[in-house]
Amino acid sequence: MKQKIVLHFPSMVTEQPFTYYLIKEYNLMVNILKANINPRKEGRMVVEVSGDSKNYQDGMEYLQSRGVKISPLEQEIVWLEDRCTQCGACVIICPVGALAMDRPEMKVTFTGEKCIVCEHCLKSCPARAMEVRY
Ligand code: SF4
Ligand code: SF4
Repeated sequence: MKQKIVLHFPSMVTEQPFTYYLIKEYNLMVNILKANINPRKEGRMVVEVSGDSKNYQDGMEYLQSRGVKISPLEQEIVWLEDRCTQCGACVIICPVGALAMDRPEMKVTFTGEKCIVCEHCLKSCPARAMEVRY
């Protein structure tokens, strides 16, 4: 089987060699399509994993047992700029700087490529200007 998935790493596990384990211990092929990993920060990696379905299942269970969240590739965060009131609440909460405050204009910006789909901003936005799309 072959599957494209998104791996979400909590900050305490970003330095662990998960792809190495998937290849070595579970005999899976791992093709990294996109990665945003920083030491001691939450991270996100888009990968294509292929191999025997039992190995795939075991490999995913191994990742989950280590605190890695797995979601379908289709999931992404969108910023509805017309709803945004520029309050800045999401800028403080975003762990990777995908939401930022441009100075000196003090204007909120969203950079989708940096987003790790942690969904923290969804809860913090009073205007419901952040949405998850599949
Ligand atoms: S989901 Fe929101 S808070 Fe999380 S990284 Fe993306 S923009 Fe930042
Ligand atoms: S929390 Fe919502 S309304 Fe406030 S700046 Fe962020 S997106 Fe805009």
